[in-house]
Amino acid sequence: MINTELWQSVLAEVELTLSRANFITWFRETGILKNKDGLVTIGVPNGFSKEWLENKYNKIILRALRNLSPDIKELKFIINQTSFYQTAADRQTGPLAHKEISPAAEQPFYEFEIDKETNLNPKYTFKNFIVGSFNELAQAAAKAVINNPGEVYNPLFIYGGVGLGKTHLLQAVGNSIIEKYEKRKKVKYVSSEKFTSELISALHGGRMEDFKESYRRIDVLIIDDIQFLAGKEKTQEEFFHTFNFLYQKNKQVILSSDRPPKAIATLEERLRSRFEGGMIADISYPDMETRLAILKNKAAERKIVLPEDVLNHIATNVQKNIRELEGALNRIVASMKLSNSEINIEQTIKALSGFIGSPNKITNYKNIIQVVAEFYDVATTELINRCRKKEVVYPRQIAMFLIREELKKSFPFIGEKLGGRDHTTVMYACEKLNKELVGNELLQQEISLIKEKIYNK
Ligand code: ADP
Ligand code: MG
Repeated sequence: MINTELWQSVLAEVELTLSRANFITWFRETGILKNKDGLVTIGVPNGFSKEWLENKYNKIILRALRNLSPDIKELKFIINQTSFYQTAADRQTGPLAHKEISPAAEQPFYEFEIDKETNLNPKYTFKNFIVGSFNELAQAAAKAVINNPGEVYNPLFIYGGVGLGKTHLLQAVGNSIIEKYEKRKKVKYVSSEKFTSELISALHGGRMEDFKESYRRIDVLIIDDIQFLAGKEKTQEEFFHTFNFLYQKNKQVILSSDRPPKAIATLEERLRSRFEGGMIADISYPDMETRLAILKNKAAERKIVLPEDVLNHIATNVQKNIRELEGALNRIVASMKLSNSEINIEQTIKALSGFIGSPNKITNYKNIIQVVAEFYDVATTELINRCRKKEVVYPRQIAMFLIREELKKSFPFIGEKLGGRDHTTVMYACEKLNKELVGNELLQQEISLIKEKIYNK
């Protein structure tokens, strides 16, 4: 494979694991300069990107490269002044500047400006948000909130798995409110990580009053991925006060999480009951028909028409993540550009092999233990060691169950790795969970969420 093609495929891969903003920020104007004796030299535009790529994305990039070319061993980043790209449009899919691209295949590429004050990205709207039975309730509740902010459904709590449209929906609500009330309502969107880091820096800098004040001026506060508040007591406390303040003034609070409030470990009881006092709406998985509608819509945005069999192939194979549906589409468009051909089913199957289905998605028991520990907010060491703390028992059983189900390891093996337990303890845990799973929807969701995290790592 030539360097440009190789990098192109790496970008397609990496794009799936990052937010759009991150992807664009760190991967623009990058490319492979040299690939020799297992060492790949990557050119980057400046020292800042070099540092980030080295420290944060080295592993992802190396993994993606090795999937394509197993003899690659090492990466080196160097600052490269000559530009890899000629147009913004080329940047998205890689260094293709020298190649003729037919106009029909040209991908439109819009740079969206994120508003500094609201943190809203105008690309997320209801116009490009497809509604199906999987997200109908969440969408309806969101629309009701837009019409009467602070008056119905407060807080609005949206939960669902990775890549299913939580951020899109939350941002669309923010954008609609700005549009509808012509900026008379002050909206702010933050991820709970950002909320936490703002809080910490205010604490350290002695600026707590400003911090409080800035949040108390808001009419519509949107906090994304609230599950990350788990275990952060100080942040939860501050959030609780902010929440109460806004709530008492009939200001709207909108929250998202990857799981329902009662499944967020170490969430303070008073917060949990606050969340449960409003409207809780879930987003599940889109059905086949909706997946097709989403694909057609995304293709139409790029002014491409895909044959029915191609659409069906993608929608059949990518079921649980809308971001991956988009990723599959990106791949196909990229591969079509490379070969300068029409999209057909043979090429689609080739382009998506290794991307869909799970044959190449393997995991090991350590990864499962780590994901389970993170999910329940306990230390990995507590799962592995003989720790008998009550809150570790359940996560350990889940880990046992998943290692058995996913890796088919023997009961004694699992027992040995998880707290030096006897094989009968493992058998008991697996049986118990298998029984409970029948008819317990919350547990089913919990397990599929954990699996998602295991395979998306
Ligand atoms: P989450 O926050 O749940 O992980 P996102 O909101 O980031 O998911 O969605 C992942 C991608 O899928 C985004 O590019 C988003 O625009 C797209 N997407 C999600 N839901 C829909 C939908 N219902 N219609 C169209 N695009 C969607
Ligand atoms: Mg999100």
